[in-house]
Amino acid sequence: MARRFVAGTTVEEAIAAVHEVNSRGMTVSIDNLGENVTNAEEARASARLYDQILDQIHARRLQANVSLKLTHMGLDVDENLARELACGLIDHARLSGNFVRVDMEGSPYTQRTLDFVREMHRPPGNAGHVGAVIQSYLYRSEKDVEELLAEGIRIRLCKGAYKEAPAIAFQKKSDVDANYIKLMMVLLKSGVYHGIATHDERIIEATRRFARQEKIPAEAFEFQMLHGIRRDLQERLVREGWRMRVYIPFGTEWYPYFMRRLAERPANAFFIARNLFRR
Ligand SMILES: Cc1cc2nc3c(=O)[nH]c(=O)nc-3n(C[C@H](O)[C@H](O)[C@H](O)COP(=O)(O)OP(=O)(O)OC[C@H]3O[C@@H](n4cnc5c(N)ncnc54)[C@H](O)[C@@H]3O)c2cc1C
Repeated sequence: MARRFVAGTTVEEAIAAVHEVNSRGMTVSIDNLGENVTNAEEARASARLYDQILDQIHARRLQANVSLKLTHMGLDVDENLARELACGLIDHARLSGNFVRVDMEGSPYTQRTLDFVREMHRPPGNAGHVGAVIQSYLYRSEKDVEELLAEGIRIRLCKGAYKEAPAIAFQKKSDVDANYIKLMMVLLKSGVYHGIATHDERIIEATRRFARQEKIPAEAFEFQMLHGIRRDLQERLVREGWRMRVYIPFGTEWYPYFMRRLAERPANAFFIARNLFRR
């Protein structure tokens, strides 16, 4: 059932999915699924898998980068370990002309994740090889965007996938969307290459309209969507000449990711339940 959202459990399956998406004129970000690992060996194993993926991307000349979570690199186990592993992967990406996106997790990790990205972006040569994610549901995001842009850091803008308290996050969809559009405009005007990650047609239309109105070229940013969601819309945007990156998750630790995708849209659960009964 998770296959709708997850490309498989092995590197080979992920690479096959990248080939397929590349052949449709879209780039990819590969996510080796996993989060909140509880021991150093799991974190090291995850980093080794990312090294393999970066090597495969380079060897096969794929149009792809990688996305990772700091808790998958051992942030809950030992901050220095997470730093060592993430820095190693960013070095690898820099040497092969690639890019590491550090996904954003729940609010207990927001500040630490942004601090990490800023620290890893600073050494000479690393600029442009590591980027952050901002969630429009958090009140703090406008200020975070300002601080990241001051250092020229690439941002993926999304709405946010975790349950957050009213004290720190907008609860109404209309407020989350309004903040998204406000931040999207700041990003597009910044002159840095960012990712507009959403399947929301209204927001996508607002982005296209703003880009045209401000004469921001299509090559100055990219839309991003998740594997298995709104493929029709992904293809339509490419046909219209916009850039599209598909986030392809794979791996054995697919359960929390899958549950977030179900929670986002109750219709997914009905869809899956119906297919269960048909079998
Ligand atoms: C490339 C990418 C990377 C992301 N990275 C992060 C991250 O690092 N941290 C984080 O917190 N969140 C991340 N997210 C998830 C994001 O925060 C949202 O939870 C998710 O994208 C749904 O929000 P939406 O913008 O699509 O808008 P919504 O208002 O949720 O959805 C708009 C429309 O999109 C479609 N849709 C949305 N979700 C689904 C679904 N699960 N199944 C089927 N259709 C759906 C429906 O048609 C829906 O009406 C990422 C999303 C993308 C696209």
